[in-house]
Amino acid sequence: MRSYLRASSDAMARLFSSRANYWAEFFLDGALTVLLVYAGCRLVESPWIIPLALVLGLLLFSFVEYFFHRWMFHTRIPLFERGHRMHHENPKGYDSLPFFLPAVVAIGLAALGVLVMPAGFVFLMIGAATFGYILYGLSHFTIHHVRFRQPLLMRWAALHHIHHHHPKTNFGVTSPLWDILLGTRYVRRNSAKT
Ligand SMILES: [Zn+2]
Ligand SMILES: [Zn+2]
Repeated sequence: MRSYLRASSDAMARLFSSRANYWAEFFLDGALTVLLVYAGCRLVESPWIIPLALVLGLLLFSFVEYFFHRWMFHTRIPLFERGHRMHHENPKGYDSLPFFLPAVVAIGLAALGVLVMPAGFVFLMIGAATFGYILYGLSHFTIHHVRFRQPLLMRWAALHHIHHHHPKTNFGVTSPLWDILLGTRYVRRNSAKT
């Protein structure tokens, strides 16, 4: 039973490491972002709610990004851990979540949100969070496939390359915000002791 579970989770990890899965997720989430933001803009009662909901949605996603990477990808939950371990072993691969999963989660959160908050606000916030997820995917892909020359971009990419060498630090990929707030930012130990 144990070996069957292991084999099937291996097969799933391989399926969700394909290039097709990677880009299907990107296009599905892109379409969902456009749909949610469009519906949200039409439903809000006053225009100032739009930037507020968008900023909150991006902030919400940045925490989700940190939360999943620290407490789901680097733990023993097979669906998450195996795919992410494959990424650590082969950073240029296409390891990703099942392409439909983020969209299902976003739609589920929007459905729950409208029970307690105005629909326009919820759609904009979840739309921005979904956009944040796309930015995360593109950032992560770019960090591993592009060699930056601009100093700020080099420093930004270095934060994630450090995570690959020190997996208990630098969980944020798009920004170091939550690593700073929650104390997981990599700090270089000074080897020259005085
Ligand atoms: Zn990586
Ligand atoms: Zn990691």
